[in-house]
Amino acid sequence: MSLDVLAIAAHPDDIEQTCGGTLIRMAERGYRTGALDLTAGDMGTRGTPEQRLAEAEVAARHLRLAWRGNLRFPDARLENTLSARLTLAVKIRELRPRVVILPYWEGRHPDHYRASELGYEACFLAGLKKLDEYSAPHRPYKVIYASLYANVKPSFVVDISGQFDARMAALLSYRSQYGSPGECAQAEGSGLFPHQQEIRERLGAAARFYGNLIGVKYGEPFVVKETMQVDDIVNMGVRSL
Ligand SMILES: [Zn+2]
Repeated sequence: MSLDVLAIAAHPDDIEQTCGGTLIRMAERGYRTGALDLTAGDMGTRGTPEQRLAEAEVAARHLRLAWRGNLRFPDARLENTLSARLTLAVKIRELRPRVVILPYWEGRHPDHYRASELGYEACFLAGLKKLDEYSAPHRPYKVIYASLYANVKPSFVVDISGQFDARMAALLSYRSQYGSPGECAQAEGSGLFPHQQEIRERLGAAARFYGNLIGVKYGEPFVVKETMQVDDIVNMGVRSL
């Protein structure tokens, strides 16, 4: 398998919240996209890991993913160990992504910044010829960081105005986390489970904020460590005045 884009995240539903719109947009452009969740959310108060995995499969269809997997590392105590790095590196050699999306390297939840560090180091290891004799080396060309929950200036924002609704449908596939349509009957007026309404508003506000930075309705922010290259300064996006 050879993916164009692989998003790696700590928990099922992280990708839906931080870079799902971008994945959908890339799939629409014909790229092969994938998602690798490191844990199955087994420390979550609602639902079981099996439910989360089944929900992640439903979400994958909304995200138009060519591939989705879960390494089932321990949730809420994700550690950057040698064995975790090697497991992830071998997976990266199998999937051969050109671009990898990682969580931003700082954050409130330890699993998120550990996933970032673990992902970066595994991408490096994956390129070592002698890592193992069963798989061919592969080093992703580009690593970008989904920075939605980090209070940092993005290096760039992807316009997801046309993908926002599908991304929301993907997130709401996690019924054990966000309620189910069956429960909506109790909610008055909106026809939405109140918790869902709150989620929609929160994600909508964040996506509007980042969209506003580039003059579109909804956006998803990313940080890159390298400087961005521009070849044509006459056709740059985002107006100045
Ligand atoms: Zn998470």
